[in-house]
Amino acid sequence: MIDAKVKQDVLAAVDGMGDELLDLVADTVRIPSVNPNYPGEVYDEVLGGESAVNEFLRPVMEDAGLTTDLWEEDKGRANLVGVYKGSGGGKSLIFNGHVDVVPPGPLEDWDHGGPWSGEIADGRIWGRGSCDMKGGNAGAIVALKAVLAAGYRPQGDVIIQDVVGEEMMNHEAGTTAAIKRGYKADGAIVVEPSEPPARLAIIPASPGLFYMVVTIKGKAVHASMRAELIRAGGLGDEVGVNSIDKAVLVYNALRQLEEEWGQTKSHPLYTRPGHFTLHPGVITGGPSGPFVISDESQIHYAVWYPPQADPEEIKAEVEAHIALHAQSDPWLRKHPPKVEWRLNWPAFDVDPKAPICRAVHAAYEAVLGAEPVYYGFAAVDDAAFLNLGGIPAVTIGPGDLRVAHAPNEFVDISELMDATKIYALSIVEWCGVK
Ligand SMILES: [Zn+2]
Repeated sequence: MIDAKVKQDVLAAVDGMGDELLDLVADTVRIPSVNPNYPGEVYDEVLGGESAVNEFLRPVMEDAGLTTDLWEEDKGRANLVGVYKGSGGGKSLIFNGHVDVVPPGPLEDWDHGGPWSGEIADGRIWGRGSCDMKGGNAGAIVALKAVLAAGYRPQGDVIIQDVVGEEMMNHEAGTTAAIKRGYKADGAIVVEPSEPPARLAIIPASPGLFYMVVTIKGKAVHASMRAELIRAGGLGDEVGVNSIDKAVLVYNALRQLEEEWGQTKSHPLYTRPGHFTLHPGVITGGPSGPFVISDESQIHYAVWYPPQADPEEIKAEVEAHIALHAQSDPWLRKHPPKVEWRLNWPAFDVDPKAPICRAVHAAYEAVLGAEPVYYGFAAVDDAAFLNLGGIPAVTIGPGDLRVAHAPNEFVDISELMDATKIYALSIVEWCGVK
């Protein structure tokens, strides 16, 4: 139970810092910080934006009373961690957010002065990164400032991590690097946008995510032989095999598995139908054009699996399903599709009754006078790596994933204020104050 006087003082302090909060979001949105590893970007051309944001934030953190550490794990990509030393006897708390953003896409799709304007209008702050997630990052800093300005000192340490690389799972350069550098705590809040399904939902779980590539071999020959390949009584595989035709068999097999997953894969925090899917994002053939029978195809999948699932079992299940269907085709039986697992973004699965969830729950109720909604994250985030590092971590933050990564991204100002208040009272509830 949060003390009524403390609550009143802290919330009033946040209300008094609204302009500062908005400026901080707008100022950081105006610093383009596209992840240099993002597909389609020229690494050296966009490198340095992440560092520029953190160089800007460093004095802001110092002014707030944090001791800062700005360092590069990957050259040209500086992380920033600020530590506010507690007075002792309380639990420590990490706020984690990423400073990289995805590319803006076609500039003509943007209103409000373009992707880097940071325009404040219509009750929103506009621009790439406003929602995902410079709003949350600014909120964490202002939350701590508000607690201090109200005259309270946290008993546990408050650690604010502004890391690089999240948008391309460069966690070794960002969040995991911060943990390895020793920035750990008794609990963590990742300040990613946590809607949908509900404004400022508490997210104790996310799916795991594989990047899977299936390669299907064919046999090249002049395209004029097509009829021999496909007509009954033709010479068939002796002459050639179109890898695209065979890839369609694999596609259909995995589409069928995806339908099964809609029935068989579930988790109590995912109440929308069948969240766990096998998404084909790229399909290739050729590469020599339509006058040669294609001799190799690939299908690139995002495989979203349930938080509680064993990743090795998911792999085995998908591979067995492909192998089973390959048996029903004479060519694929002899030339089985090759499955390659390129990366795995691990899931996280924190009990909604865990202490970190209860603390955020209490803060939410104190700010909004209602019960929070708990939900599994649609996407993945760095809470997975904090949890893997032994730090119980949940996600809650201002913004809606349905406007993230899109033109005319924005964060709603009233939601940003409420999130900041929830962060401030989470410090009170989790760290204790004196
Ligand atoms: Zn994000």
